[in-house]
Amino acid sequence: MAVVAELGETVSKLRQAYESSRTRSLAWRQAQLRGLLRLLKEQQETAFEALHEDLGKHRAEAYRDEVGLLMKSANEALRQLGKWMTPEKVWVPLVAFPATGQIVPEPLGVILIFACWNVPLGLSLEPLIGAIAAGNAVALKPSELSPCTAKFLAENVGKYMDAAAVKVVQGGPEVGEQLMEHRWDKVLFTGSPRVGRAVMAAASKHLTPVALELGGKCPCIFDMMSSARELQIAVNRIVGAKWSCCAGQACLAIDYLLVEERYLPVLLKVLKSTMKRFFSDADAMARIVSARHFERLRNLLKDREVAPSILHGGSMDAENLYIEPTILLNPPLDSAIMTEEIFGPLLPIITLKKIEDSIAFVRAMPKPLALYAFTGDAKLRRRIVEETSSGSVTFNDAVVQYAIDALPFGGVGQSGSGQYHGKYSFEMFSHKKAVMKRGYLIELTLRYPPWNERKIAL
Ligand code: NAD
Repeated sequence: MAVVAELGETVSKLRQAYESSRTRSLAWRQAQLRGLLRLLKEQQETAFEALHEDLGKHRAEAYRDEVGLLMKSANEALRQLGKWMTPEKVWVPLVAFPATGQIVPEPLGVILIFACWNVPLGLSLEPLIGAIAAGNAVALKPSELSPCTAKFLAENVGKYMDAAAVKVVQGGPEVGEQLMEHRWDKVLFTGSPRVGRAVMAAASKHLTPVALELGGKCPCIFDMMSSARELQIAVNRIVGAKWSCCAGQACLAIDYLLVEERYLPVLLKVLKSTMKRFFSDADAMARIVSARHFERLRNLLKDREVAPSILHGGSMDAENLYIEPTILLNPPLDSAIMTEEIFGPLLPIITLKKIEDSIAFVRAMPKPLALYAFTGDAKLRRRIVEETSSGSVTFNDAVVQYAIDALPFGGVGQSGSGQYHGKYSFEMFSHKKAVMKRGYLIELTLRYPPWNERKIAL
């Protein structure tokens, strides 16, 4: 745990490292990315153990969602870095002739990253890749709810990267609050809207820009499929996205399904058989992160109005922090399970008369981080894109958009602000400096006083 008195020193060491200018060079940035790749390769087994200890994640899930994705992102940053750092020439209007214009990306300075516990390695290192690629010094605060991964990061980051310019600070909310007392050049916060508000308020003291990676209720519109094969594939993707990503404790997890009443029996049959097939092994699904979150989820189900809507699953094991993959049918729309983000293995299904009604349903809720729709209907797809607002829209799959570097990742409205991944991560932690150079060949004296009416017409 970080001793609060030491934090000031940590921050000033980071600033010294940044002020030394060494983090700006292409060579330094490449060396950090290569170091991170070596860390992920050489310490892979220790990382799997930490993720298993913290969340009961299977190593295959840990590789798919964290280690493997991070290697992809670091490799991509290494490949593209030279291009991203190259100043962009822009056209300058003739009236300014002779002149040239450029946009020069410059590092912001010293960055603070707050990570969440559900993808504790990924949500720490994915933004770190962008921050070092952009030439910054970085403090990383992992979540106290995933202590083994936090310890893993604290023990290894300094061994593989420039330990004076990239530091891991362990601790809970009080350490987070103390960190926010200091001046940063940008803060990226991943977590709840409640803490996001506190971080933003604290950042205002130093006018520090903040990117908020929050969550919300990600809806999934499920239209009728045109064949049994398509139905099975769609359901595989839904079951995978709901329960195989940290047991539904994922910001991009499907929160609830919207389906036409008449299609429900067919969908349920395939859903249940697929859940059985995917999750019959005891270690197939991660566990709930903590007793507090277990209790929160139990309360969502225990609600007197909600309990009768449990259609499948619902069993719980408090000792092992396990909740069976659970389906609910039409819980009351004003119950907590339909107004709060679920962030766990519970899936409400809401039936509608017509699938088109889903658009009004989604619009009535706060803007989600992601919106999913399984549909072959081009008109419905167009309406969804044009008539709803969300961080992203994915058709006929879920969560996979997170792995696509060409697509910016981030929320809108209550689901957050600021986007990263791929080049967007580099941009998140860079300032686009406008650089203009003029010559002395022509001088338009019309721009100067003394003023007269002719100067207005021109
Ligand atoms: P949280 O908001 O309680 O904590 C997140 C981080 O903030 C932790 O590192 C914590 O130590 C720190 N913190 C807590 N209080 C603080 C304070 N007062 N000042 C400074 N730092 C403080 O985490 P949670 O509520 O368990 O996270 C779940 C939420 O995170 C969900 O809403 C989920 O959707 C969201 N989330 C978003 C993303 C994304 O990438 N958009 C990813 C994962 C989770």
